[in-house]
Formats: sequence, C-alpha cells, structure tokens
Amino acid sequence: MSDYDIVIIGSGPAAISAAITAKIRKKNILVLGQKDLSPKVAKSHTIHNYPGLPEIDGPGLAKAFWDHLDNLGIEITDAHANMIYDMGDFLAVQSGQNMYQTDTVILATGVVSEKHFKGEDEHLGKGVSYCATCDAALYPGKTAVVIAHDPKEEAEADFLAEYAKKVYYIPMYEGEVHVKDSIEVLHTTPLDIVGEDKVEALETEDGHLEVDGIFILRESVAPDHLIKGIEMDNNHVKVDRNMATNIKGLFACGDVTGTPYQYVKAAGEGNVAALSAVTYIDTKKRGETV
Ligand SMILES: Cc1cc2nc3c(=O)[nH]c(=O)nc-3n(C[C@H](O)[C@H](O)[C@H](O)COP(=O)(O)OP(=O)(O)OC[C@H]3O[C@@H](n4cnc5c(N)ncnc54)[C@H](O)[C@@H]3O)c2cc1C
Repeated sequence: MSDYDIVIIGSGPAAISAAITAKIRKKNILVLGQKDLSPKVAKSHTIHNYPGLPEIDGPGLAKAFWDHLDNLGIEITDAHANMIYDMGDFLAVQSGQNMYQTDTVILATGVVSEKHFKGEDEHLGKGVSYCATCDAALYPGKTAVVIAHDPKEEAEADFLAEYAKKVYYIPMYEGEVHVKDSIEVLHTTPLDIVGEDKVEALETEDGHLEVDGIFILRESVAPDHLIKGIEMDNNHVKVDRNMATNIKGLFACGDVTGTPYQYVKAAGEGNVAALSAVTYIDTKKRGETV
C-alpha cells in the first residue's frame, strides 16, 4: 500500500497546476518543492502572456498561485527530492532521510541550467553526492567538500561536519557565509573531479584539494541523475502526449520536458500530467493492467 497516490516534485507553474488538478480529483498528494515556489516566477518582471492576468509581475503571479493553493488546502513541503526508485509496482521517492512510497510521480523540476563539472557524472555514487543529509553518515573520519549554489545549503554543510573529520565549503553565490567554525570556507572555482575508481581530489582554479567526498548542492538535479533508466531527449525528459515517460507511473511536465520555456506551457502540461496520473491510478485500483 503506497503512502501517496501522487508525489509531485517541484513547485513552479507545472507542479502547482498538477497539484491543483490532482487535488480537485481527490487524490492523496505530496508536493516536494520550496517555500518561495519558483525563483523563475518570483524574479520575473512583467508577464504579458498569462491568460486572464495581463501585466502581472512575478511576485503577483506567485501570490495568485499561493491564494489558489491555500484555497484548496494544498501544502508545499519544503524539501528536495534526492532520488526516485522504480520498484516495479510502485515508485519510491527519497527526500533527505525520508522515503515515500507512491503509485505515481510527477516530475516538474524545471530545466537544469548549471553545467556539470568535469568528472562529476563518472563519479556519481563513487564519492559524488547531491544530498548531505542522505550521505553524511558515510563520512566519519573522512574529508569532504561541499559545493553550494544557495545559502540554504549552509545547514547541510553544518550537518556533514557532525560526521566528517574535515569539511571544506565552496560557495557558488555572492554574500556572507555562515557555517560552523570548524568548516573551512574556500572562495574558489571548482574545475575537475579526479580519481580512479572513486573520488580522490577536487581540482580548483587555486589548486588541488584531496577529498573523499564531493557534495554538489544545486537547486535542480538532471532527471537522469534522479531516476535510473529514464529516457532523455538531449537534456530533456522524453514524454508522450499524456506526459508519460518510459517509466511506469512516472510523468513529467514543464521546462523539464523541453522548449518553449513558458509559464502557460508548463501549467498546461501540469494539468495533463495530473489527469494522466489519475487515469493510471484509477486503472491500477480496478486491478487492470497499467
Ligand atoms: C527572468 C525570467 C522571466 C521569464 N518570463 C517569462 C514570461 O514572461 N512568460 C513566460 O511564459 N515564461 C517566462 N519565463 C519562463 C518561465 O519562468 C518557465 O518556463 C517556468 O517557470 C517553467 O515552470 P516549471 O514549473 O516547469 O519550472 P520552474 O518554474 O523552474 O520550477 C521548478 C521548481 O522545482 C524545484 N525543484 C527542482 N528540483 C527539485 C527537487 N529535486 N526537489 C524538489 N524541488 C525541486 C525548483 O526549486 C523550482 O522551484 C521566464 C523565466 C525567467 C528566468
């Protein structure tokens, strides 16, 4: 028995639209995203092409989204999804130390803009991790570096420092850094992840850092790093007209499925993904083949 009918990953227009439709269709949902919804909504100036809301700005659209979510009693859980596992008859979503079983997942994580570091893909799971909360316990007595794209990751570094012998912290953002005194903050640019079978060092523009683990903490992780076996079309998730991916029970919508990158396209796909997930769940509950 699954914990949820639908786990929606993301909190931009695609995810919000999917959540609204799923809630109206009385499904038991969990939305994993961020409290300020999407930076791509909040930071936008005037938006000219959202139907019914001419000349609205980003903060105005975000408020309209919040009002709609509140109205339907939909909560956004401020948490990152770190991995999705295909368990055959259901899907499992790992978020920090929590694992959720669900019949379906709607992936609405937006487009990943940051380039991967050299050596990152080859060392994923061999010393490269995207979640300190999940993997910190693997580093007692070891040395690790956190490459953080947002100040909220400072807490992740502090948590890692409870296990690791030595933690370096490389902020990829402007502004002050507030981490534990034991953490060494390095203002440098990471270049290359090196090691034979596992991570041995990080090369930066200022030199060579010997480490056992590298935690790369970004807002979004590439979909094929979130779930093994997902079919991609260049950098985007391949979907059909129902927003179904090649993995049973997994749907995707919004920028993650490709261009044009537009609010209305994202919201429209979110609606289709939710309706497809509802059909999938109802078919499965009737005992028919999905
Ligand atoms: C400055 C700017 C102005 C724009 N102006 C316009 C415009 O005028 N008109 C228009 O139509 N479009 C505009 N766009 C494009 C529009 O912002 C995007 O097309 C739209 O936001 C895509 O929505 P989305 O829901 O697919 O993804 P996003 O809005 O990117 O939302 C994805 C969300 O998922 C979260 N997320 C990612 N990974 C995870 C994870 N693993 N776990 C939990 N949460 C996760 C992210 O934090 C983010 O909040 C603009 C974009 C920018 C940057």
